Amino acid sequence: MLKKSVTFVKGIGEEKAKDLHNLGIYSIQDLLEYFPFRYEDYRPKDITEIKHEERVTIQGTIQSESVLRFYGKKKSKISTRVLVGNVLLTAVFFNQHYLKTKLVIGSKVTLTGKWDQHRLSITVNECKFGIGEQNSSYEPVYSVGGKITVKGLKKMINSAMEQYGNQIKEILPPYYLQKYKLIERKDALYKLHYPLNFEDAKKARRRMVYEEFLLFQLKMQAIRKFHRENSGGASINYDKENVTLFLERLPFSLTSAQQRVVDEILKDMATPYRMNRLLQGDVGSGKTVVAAICLYAAVTARFQGALMVPTEILAEQHYHSLKALLEPVGITSELLTGSIKGKKRKELLTRLESGELNIIIGTHALIQDEVQFHKLGLVITDEQHRFGVEQRRTLRNKGLNPDVLFMTATPIPRTLAISIFGDMDVSTIDEMPAGRKPIETYWAKHQMLERVLSFVEKELMKGRQAYVICPLIEESDKLDVQNAIDVHAQLQHYFRDYKVGLMHGRLHSSEKEEVMQQFSNNEVQILVSTTVVEVGVNVPNATIMVIYDAERFGLSQLHQLRGRVGRGDAQSYCVLLADPKSDVGKERMKIMTETNNGFELSQRDLELRGPGDFFGSKQSGLPEFKIADMIHDYRALEVARNDATHLVSSEEFWENSEYKYLVMYLEEQGVLNGEKMD
Ligand code: ADP
Ligand code: MG
Repeated sequence: MLKKSVTFVKGIGEEKAKDLHNLGIYSIQDLLEYFPFRYEDYRPKDITEIKHEERVTIQGTIQSESVLRFYGKKKSKISTRVLVGNVLLTAVFFNQHYLKTKLVIGSKVTLTGKWDQHRLSITVNECKFGIGEQNSSYEPVYSVGGKITVKGLKKMINSAMEQYGNQIKEILPPYYLQKYKLIERKDALYKLHYPLNFEDAKKARRRMVYEEFLLFQLKMQAIRKFHRENSGGASINYDKENVTLFLERLPFSLTSAQQRVVDEILKDMATPYRMNRLLQGDVGSGKTVVAAICLYAAVTARFQGALMVPTEILAEQHYHSLKALLEPVGITSELLTGSIKGKKRKELLTRLESGELNIIIGTHALIQDEVQFHKLGLVITDEQHRFGVEQRRTLRNKGLNPDVLFMTATPIPRTLAISIFGDMDVSTIDEMPAGRKPIETYWAKHQMLERVLSFVEKELMKGRQAYVICPLIEESDKLDVQNAIDVHAQLQHYFRDYKVGLMHGRLHSSEKEEVMQQFSNNEVQILVSTTVVEVGVNVPNATIMVIYDAERFGLSQLHQLRGRVGRGDAQSYCVLLADPKSDVGKERMKIMTETNNGFELSQRDLELRGPGDFFGSKQSGLPEFKIADMIHDYRALEVARNDATHLVSSEEFWENSEYKYLVMYLEEQGVLNGEKMD
């Protein structure tokens, strides 16, 4: 019934319905669940509690003849004295001359307006006569737009409540209502729209937040369950003995976190379900070797593997490090990027299709039509947030429903991970390889450049290397920002005894490769670059990272850049050259100097920016909630996730009528008939 169009509500015609559509309101239910975003506190306050410039409501008695003055034709001002409690104050009314006759000595008034602590006066916006219950309230404020006003919307909600309020059904099972002491659904909706006080609104909100998160998580968990059960993925029966031997051959032993995630992933690969897993770990936590082990394992089960990365530099880098690990054990791997052309490309594609080639590493080029696999079993993508859903799907569809592992070095706060990736399994490397010294980070103003450069020189004298990052490639007349080409020239002049390299996105890929190679071999000691080195690049002898105009970068980007150093045993440094103007900018620099931990950093970033901005709101795929707030209510989100996981895997849930509304919800959402299973 509540699913019917809002036009069934008395007083809402086609015209108004259209305006409501702009607010996302189509059904009666939508209208009833259109929640206020805050409440205005009209309850009278004690004068002593009021802060300067605060908006308040006070009650009192008029004590003096009120004085009316006109300015020009339309402007007017009334002043009068009002006794509130035992304080005598001045009330000022602008352009409300018609009140003059009512503001008489002895009359009781309730005034709402802005308080001036110094003058002991209130500039009145709203004046009600008499003092009583009806004046003391706590009123919802809704976000509106177009032709719809708050007042109009309230009227519509009122009629919807009157007509349909008794049809609001409880959808949560009694067990959860009791367990979390949640109020009934109908009660909650009433209290959200008509709270008597703050407590009312809070209780109501708490109930609806849990409901909203539970429904969302049920959907996620149900999708995840059906994904697994119906996906028909390959069982990758890897050769345990060979994998163990492979681990023994590594130049280091895995950290326990690496070991744990390897176990999780391999176990998942061996099941006949399609793996859909996120591997997150801070920069430098050692994800590449985990990828190598998994790819190796897939090959021991006679499958092929693919590793897809966002940039050619990174593809290059991964190719070299994987090859070093895989070639000695007889595994063939090749690099495929846009710049590999002609005969070489053709040959490579033939080997891939015949199955002679075990592992392919590349950029987006991997997902073009011409690329055909013999038997693709595992796809790993690095920095997954740079790949669109479509691209991942295309690649998956080429093979036998391959297992998919997404690696990301943008540690996602738990809160977000379980929201965005609610339908994925998550493996987390939360430990750094032993012996790593935390990178020391400093924030310096640009005027301190000399000192920064002499600091860099000291590192160079120890035989170390440096990165210098600039926001732009070349000079811009619009932005007063350091550019890589100029900085490269300046630094080459300053550091005469060292070789300074230049790297940016406009270089030809063979040029990029050459510079990178020189830097890797320490033929170049200082690499001036734009953010193309942001992800994945690994040169352990580099110990200092200088970032020009650091305020122009986001926190996670700065953290990624910083992660290019601190990859060896030596103490590493990061210097942020920045003169941020905004408070947020200053806060970002401060956070960088205070923490090296990517998870903590991203949590603080999230708090600073809000979740919508975290991945850039458009492509983020962030769920939108009507009332819940992922940061603020993250505890409820966790609770709801656990409950949802438990529910979908219990038989009772699908059979017992206690849960029928929840199951109906999943049906409506198209989860049960497979619509949502790409
Ligand atoms: P990321 O997680 O940022 O991709 P990498 O895989 O590039 O990190 O690893 C960073 C560096 O740490 C590499 O030089 C790698 O060889 C090294 N490394 C990885 N795991 C370990 C380990 N368990 N012990 C010592 N060094 C390791
Ligand atoms: Mg990496």
